[in-house]
Amino acid sequence: MNAPKRKPIPKSLRAEIHAKCGGRCAYCGVKITIREMQIDHVTSLELYEAYTYHTDMEGTNPNCPENLLPACRSCNHYKNTYTIEQFRTAIMNWPYVLARDSVTYRNAVRFGLVVPKPHEVEFYFEQIGVDVPETLISPLHERHFKTKGADPKCGRDLEDSRG
Ligand SMILES: [Zn+2]
Repeated sequence: MNAPKRKPIPKSLRAEIHAKCGGRCAYCGVKITIREMQIDHVTSLELYEAYTYHTDMEGTNPNCPENLLPACRSCNHYKNTYTIEQFRTAIMNWPYVLARDSVTYRNAVRFGLVVPKPHEVEFYFEQIGVDVPETLISPLHERHFKTKGADPKCGRDLEDSRG
């Protein structure tokens, strides 16, 4: 198996990724400097590796720039290995987690200091119309189960962007 590695990201690509969302975190939209920016893999390397390991499929490169988004430390930490939709679901569950785990939160709600406002979370990159491959796994999945497969959506490698 040729596992994708965490390669050092060249400066020019860091700048390209930082500019993708106008210098903001792709998820929450907070302003971040290039120095602060963490680089999120939309489809995480861990998920990709687990999938390719179990199916023996290869062909899509998780290090391609299309799979990379700028993220603040907090969003990158919470997203971890989640897909976009798993991350969205986890965030939308936070009020319920608070209600379950925090007496202070329940008290604040009871006194009207905090008002829960459940709503569909739209990430910042979605609000500004940045396209990302939702998952690198589903094309693999399709190829794995069909004789005729979809083309990999990402062909560019980090190596190509060096310069
Ligand atoms: Zn963020």
